[in-house]
Amino acid sequence: MKIWHPFTQHGLNEPIIEIETSDGEFLITPGGEKIIDGISSWWVNTIGHKNPVVSEAIQKQAEKLHQIIFAGFTHKPALNVAENLSKFLPENFTHVFFSDSGSTSVEVALKMAVGYHFNKGSTRSKVVAMEHSYHGDTFGGMSSGARSVFNEPYTKMLFEVERIPYPVEGKENEAIEAYKKLLQKEGGKIGAIILEPLVLGSGGMFFYKPFVLEELYKLSKEYRVIFCLDEVMTGFGRTGTMFAFNQTNIIPDIICLSKGLTGGSIPLAATVCTKEIYDAYLSEDKAKMFFHSSSYTANPIACAAANANLEIWQNTDILADVKRINEFYLGQIERIKNLGGKNVRTLGDIFAFEVQTDGNDYVSNIGVKFYEYFRKNGVLLRPLGNTIYVMPPYCISKESLEKIFDVIENAMKEYL
Ligand SMILES: *Cc1c(COP(=O)(O)O)cnc(C)c1O
Repeated sequence: MKIWHPFTQHGLNEPIIEIETSDGEFLITPGGEKIIDGISSWWVNTIGHKNPVVSEAIQKQAEKLHQIIFAGFTHKPALNVAENLSKFLPENFTHVFFSDSGSTSVEVALKMAVGYHFNKGSTRSKVVAMEHSYHGDTFGGMSSGARSVFNEPYTKMLFEVERIPYPVEGKENEAIEAYKKLLQKEGGKIGAIILEPLVLGSGGMFFYKPFVLEELYKLSKEYRVIFCLDEVMTGFGRTGTMFAFNQTNIIPDIICLSKGLTGGSIPLAATVCTKEIYDAYLSEDKAKMFFHSSSYTANPIACAAANANLEIWQNTDILADVKRINEFYLGQIERIKNLGGKNVRTLGDIFAFEVQTDGNDYVSNIGVKFYEYFRKNGVLLRPLGNTIYVMPPYCISKESLEKIFDVIENAMKEYL
């Protein structure tokens, strides 16, 4: 049997690179080639590959308990995640629901929000999302996310979602007004809004301003719409703060966490909610419980990895590294502009720009050419169509950052 890889057109015979070990910002092949992981292995890795504190926690936990049913049972690693997470979150967040991936954390959030209204006696099941957004590849995630070549065969199976425009800089009011109009028209039917805060990741690393979230939040409160933030990518320092919503003055009703939760070591996800959400399910009536579970919910080894990660966050100034990286980026903006980069932008650990093409879509060939060029030169960067972005683990050295930008420069000189 052969392996069918994700987001891979095997018909194009793209080479599949075997990795044997990893270390810090490096992926290491069996032959010993060190590849700089410029995209944190699809955004999961925050504190570097094979962090020794995380490795040790995994080893120790593996000697005690691998997996148990999580209905009617609990374990220390899960209890510790709840406690450790609350050190980083406002007190309003009182409950955490575990699952196993970013997509499932979104499914949980949507179900939680719609079920909240149901338990309160109303059928507000419409969801609002933002244009160009991405919330995972399960059906709720695909439905909430932008419609594109990614999900075209399934269009008819996806539930309808109301969309507000992406808040283009200088025209943020249009997005806010669109939401307001939607609420005025259909407010009573809308149960939840789900947003990627500050950065639309898969949509092309589009940034928007914190005040937009504040305005959308205010409107949501006015119409009793549950405000969910999908912090799966932005969480754990990516935008320069622990969570993206920390750059606003709002406290969402629900947040989704996954990628960086274990530092990028093992899958785990958490959907965190406020007391108000939880209380809507609290009853002596069994029919009002939250009907959701996945088999490996709160896997003890994954929880141990998350605790190690959260302890690292507690004991080290991780954000200082994000700042260091961002300062390096600021010094690269002119350089990339001079090479022909468009919309050169940076936020926290993210640096992004576009290169000119005929179309602006994911399947555009220019991204593939760049990807191959980077790869051959020891750097993993995987452009989103014609958007080239850098998002490395925070432990990355200055030398590796310099190498990434040198390789980008050479690629731009070669192909633009
Ligand atoms: C990656 C991502 C997801 C999906 O997470 P998976 O772990 O791949 O299922 C959902 N939302 C956002 C914003 C993401 O970046």
